[in-house]
Amino acid sequence: TAPPLFPRVAVIGLGLIGSSLARVLRADPTLAGELVAADRSAAVCARVLELGLADRAETDPACAVAGADLVILAVPIGACADLAAAIGPHLKPGAILTDVGSVKQAVIRDVAPQVPDGVHFVPGHPIAGTEHSGPDAGFADLFRGRWCILTPPPGTDPAAVEKVVELWRRAGSMIEVMEPGHHDRVLAITSHLPHLIAYTIVGTATDLEEHLKSEVIRFSASGFRDFTRIAASDPVMWRDIFLNNREAVLEIIQRFTEDLTALQRAIRWGEAETLEHLFTRTRDIRRGII
Ligand code: NAD
Repeated sequence: TAPPLFPRVAVIGLGLIGSSLARVLRADPTLAGELVAADRSAAVCARVLELGLADRAETDPACAVAGADLVILAVPIGACADLAAAIGPHLKPGAILTDVGSVKQAVIRDVAPQVPDGVHFVPGHPIAGTEHSGPDAGFADLFRGRWCILTPPPGTDPAAVEKVVELWRRAGSMIEVMEPGHHDRVLAITSHLPHLIAYTIVGTATDLEEHLKSEVIRFSASGFRDFTRIAASDPVMWRDIFLNNREAVLEIIQRFTEDLTALQRAIRWGEAETLEHLFTRTRDIRRGII
């Protein structure tokens, strides 16, 4: 039988995304051979072994990447710079390094300088997730039917890109290659702004007077519950996303604020037609999204 596409894989960070990828790799012997996990949390390492997600688990990432053909960074964005510096000297020539970070320009800025010559860096971002975290939250079908965006810098070895494409194909994803700045602007509107608004609404409700606050929970089915589901997402991950996609997010907040102010004005002056026109337009657009 032919050797697997990646004889040895190291996954660093075994949370929702890392453990889901580990499950994909484990399920397909033609995709991955040995799987080494690394997580700074000893509890996560122990759990990963209990779940059978890796052959070995290390708290030292440098040990984990030695000899690996594919290294996957699946840690919060803010951890990528230090991690890349720690593993850079231990990456094997010809290895492929990839990541799953939700912001691409900042990760490339932080990681690329640490990648030695002869190692191929292919940044990626699966557009899939839940509001849960940790190794128990992961599942192999997380990426099925979802997009994965790859943002390889110009000049990246096409064979390395093709191997990462194949990884995501086996995970069931559809793949798009994009320029990192474009990725960050698209995600600012499709993902980062919605999370920011959800966090804000929960904050607004929390600051209400007691007698109103208790009613929020009781009557949450009226919109609050559905709308704010994503506000239960991991705070560290989201802190890092906003700090690292600052410009694109500030630009979209500016536009959103203008639109919100226009709505505020229409409500204040009783502009029924303006409101109905806007809601009809947005309803039609929303219905076009499955
Ligand atoms: P998570 O909180 O579930 O897991 C992160 C794991 O990384 C934890 O086990 C933590 O112990 C470990 N970790 C943190 N710092 C580390 C370090 N310096 N060295 C080693 N291990 C470290 O997070 P997640 O939801 O899996 O997110 C991971 C990455 O995936 C983030 O960069 C995020 O932007 C990206 N992402 C998340 C989602 C999502 O919906 N959750 C979707 C797409 C991409």
